[in-house]
Amino acid sequence: MEPVAYDKHIKQVLIAQEEIAEAIRQAGRQISTWYDGRPILLVSILKGAFVFLADLCRAVTVPCEIGFMCAKSYYQGTESSGMVSITMDLEQDISQYHVVIVEDIIDTGRTLRDVVALLRERNPLSLRVVTLLDKPCRRKVEFEADMALFTISDHFVIGYGLDCAEQYRNLPYIAEYDTAVDAEN
Ligand code: 5GP
Ligand code: MG
Repeated sequence: MEPVAYDKHIKQVLIAQEEIAEAIRQAGRQISTWYDGRPILLVSILKGAFVFLADLCRAVTVPCEIGFMCAKSYYQGTESSGMVSITMDLEQDISQYHVVIVEDIIDTGRTLRDVVALLRERNPLSLRVVTLLDKPCRRKVEFEADMALFTISDHFVIGYGLDCAEQYRNLPYIAEYDTAVDAEN
């Protein structure tokens, strides 16, 4: 698919719509086999992961529930203070569920490290992390997802839920954002 005309910031399409759809079909099958009918809660970290969650939950072929939380990590300079602030919390008591955190992208790893630590304190039956995108070259803290659908190099990406200043979440594909365009203006 060609980049939409409205956007001069789209440098290149990195992952096409159909590639995302195929990877999600496989991920849905994998999640469905992991839990063998036990209670699953798919937890989306807002806002970036809402599109991924919407498609992923429809690729899961066993009963599952969904939940949302909004988390922000606080940093002292470039270092995480180790504190994560939940601006919107889950409504479920996760001690009754096998939890799958559904994230859009892992960059430094700090957000998920903090969120995982927080959710573990609440004693879920088990906890796994599934991310659409992984940028391992940017990691500042050790963190590995149980499943990463795509590994990308050091690009700032937009689309399929991911934003730049709240724009582009509605692009149906993952694109590289062209920072040079702003520098020229
Ligand atoms: P981390 O704590 O792993 O550094 O941060 C991950 C969060 O940073 C993601 O959930 C996402 O909100 C944001 N982020 C990291 N890399 C990108 C990127 O390439 N594009 C966009 N739109 N957000 C990113
Ligand atoms: Mg995010």
